Amino acid sequence: MTRPVVPEAEREIGVKHPVLRHGYVVLVDYMGNDAAIVQAARVSYGKGTRAVRDDRGLIRYLMRHRHTTPFEMVEFKFLVRLPIFVARQWIRHRMSSTNEFSQRYSVAPDEFEVPPPEEIRHQSTRNRQGRGEPLAAEVVDRFRSDLDRISKDAYASYSRALEDGVARETARLLLPVAYYTQWYWKIDLWNLFHFLSLRLDPHAQEEIRLYAAELAKIARLVSPIAYEAFEDFSLSGIYLSRGERVAIRALLEGKTPEAACEVAGLPLTREDGKPMTSGEGVEFLEKLTRIRSPD
Ligand SMILES: Cc1cc2nc3c(=O)[nH]c(=O)nc-3n(C[C@H](O)[C@H](O)[C@H](O)COP(=O)(O)OP(=O)(O)OC[C@H]3O[C@@H](n4cnc5c(N)ncnc54)[C@H](O)[C@@H]3O)c2cc1C
Repeated sequence: MTRPVVPEAEREIGVKHPVLRHGYVVLVDYMGNDAAIVQAARVSYGKGTRAVRDDRGLIRYLMRHRHTTPFEMVEFKFLVRLPIFVARQWIRHRMSSTNEFSQRYSVAPDEFEVPPPEEIRHQSTRNRQGRGEPLAAEVVDRFRSDLDRISKDAYASYSRALEDGVARETARLLLPVAYYTQWYWKIDLWNLFHFLSLRLDPHAQEEIRLYAAELAKIARLVSPIAYEAFEDFSLSGIYLSRGERVAIRALLEGKTPEAACEVAGLPLTREDGKPMTSGEGVEFLEKLTRIRSPD
């Protein structure tokens, strides 16, 4: 039995992938690759499987049928530097191990995030958690200079508190969420796919999506066949509810998308007759748009 090694991933270890102003993702170590997934799966399916399925076919079968544990045989350890507001979203992914830089032991570096002008936009009218249309240039400039000034003031107060002898664990209360933290983060491939399916999604905040994109490149490097299956069946696949199946049947029978929604009970208008901007009907039409558009 030999330890699976991926030459491209070996070259990747220790390489800093910059994200945002001061952040990065580094692959510190990894264990396993596509071969480790296949090796684990063949324990369950026995010798006969090689004859009926090649490795790629087996991995795609596992992905399609949500036989998840073989994917957990691949592990990654990353060093990530990220703003605290991104870390708060990231840490919600419990199926992973984190060890964070301690601002109780160490002095926080003077590094904070200021989004580029194009990322400072109106509150989205469609997604309550998202951003939408561009803002006037003066609003963007004011926001960026306020953020810069407040962050610098906060760091000056933090430094003064440390000089005054205030404990580091208390002084850090002065630092806003734009400041950076860093951690080691270990996760298996299945849970990384879960993280990526949520954090590459357009509904996720832009900043964490940028980190997810870097993690995705590394996952693809280590386990290209599994990553391809993840893309095909999860990222680029479309889940259909029972109502949406009914609507698709109506479409196949020649109904318009709006009529199909009506048949399936997927609402497109509010009680007052105004068109809805979100909800099951709207999301079904979005799925149809995705199906119609090339990848
Ligand atoms: C676009 C977006 C918006 C969000 N908005 C909010 C928000 O407004 N407020 C907010 O609080 N959070 C929000 N979240 C965080 C979200 O609710 C999840 O906490 C986060 O995405 C982690 O997902 P997870 O629990 O599936 O992952 P993990 O914690 O990694 O868990 C992976 C899987 O393990 C299982 N699991 C893990 N722990 C348990 C458990 N204790 N019990 C049962 N099953 C478990 C579940 O099947 C889970 O899906 C948002 C996330 C996204 C992507």
